[in-house]
Amino acid sequence: MAALLQDPLTLEQQRPGSPSSSAPDQLTETVVVGPINLAAAPLGYSGIEEHTTPTHAFVEHSSTILFPILFFPNVYFSFDRLYELELVWLAALAIPFALVSGDLVGGVVHWAADTYFSEDTPIVGPALIKPFRQHHLFPRDICTHTFVSIVGNVCILAVPVLSVCLYLLWISDHGLIAFAILCTALMAATTVGTNIFHKWAHQEKPGAGVRWLQRMRFVLEPNHHQVHHTEPFQMHYCITNGWLNPLLNKIGFFRKLEAVLHFFGIEPTNEKSEVRSQN
Ligand SMILES: [Zn+2]
Ligand SMILES: [Zn+2]
Repeated sequence: MAALLQDPLTLEQQRPGSPSSSAPDQLTETVVVGPINLAAAPLGYSGIEEHTTPTHAFVEHSSTILFPILFFPNVYFSFDRLYELELVWLAALAIPFALVSGDLVGGVVHWAADTYFSEDTPIVGPALIKPFRQHHLFPRDICTHTFVSIVGNVCILAVPVLSVCLYLLWISDHGLIAFAILCTALMAATTVGTNIFHKWAHQEKPGAGVRWLQRMRFVLEPNHHQVHHTEPFQMHYCITNGWLNPLLNKIGFFRKLEAVLHFFGIEPTNEKSEVRSQN
């Protein structure tokens, strides 16, 4: 289903006759709600509504339902195994590990989506690259997205991982396996929560509970995240709680990753000078 309206970034990048100008979108279609008048849309909103394909919607909804069905048994049985082995102290380590590693995983995926691939890349293009790049143009569109569209794609990735974890718990009674699975399950939950926390950071009037979580820095704080939406748009990729952003900025983590990929001939596909909304 071809997109009815392309955003300015896409239009700027397309060449006449390029595949993206005629190829059907694999996962999403774009529907204009009301007349096209971006200037009249509230700041940060596009006025455009994305609809996923029926197949993708089915997988998204199924995975979103399956995630808690797999997550809670993983946490319960891995914790129970650690308790039996008198290794509960390891369970306490799993929580900070999950919060930090979830922030890192989300940051690396965000950086990769911002910097490499294109909206036309098979599978990841419509599912990952396009949402991230459109988010830079219309940051508050995320506030209009449904719960399933916010967490569904991450659940699609997390469900197979949690299935394997549950199987490993079934066949092994080793304490370290139980610890690794508890860490993995909590990290998966943190990663699934990332887009929810990201959405909260763009909401104009979040609830009191959310504001408290943001003030305490348990989740992404709006002013902290705003740095990512401010020129030169190359910092603060971590959007779970943002705890790692100062460290990664200081050591030039993402620039070094780009240098390593450049060494192997892999170049960024997204111009740093792209036009973005800073709202
Ligand atoms: Zn970004
Ligand atoms: Zn954002």
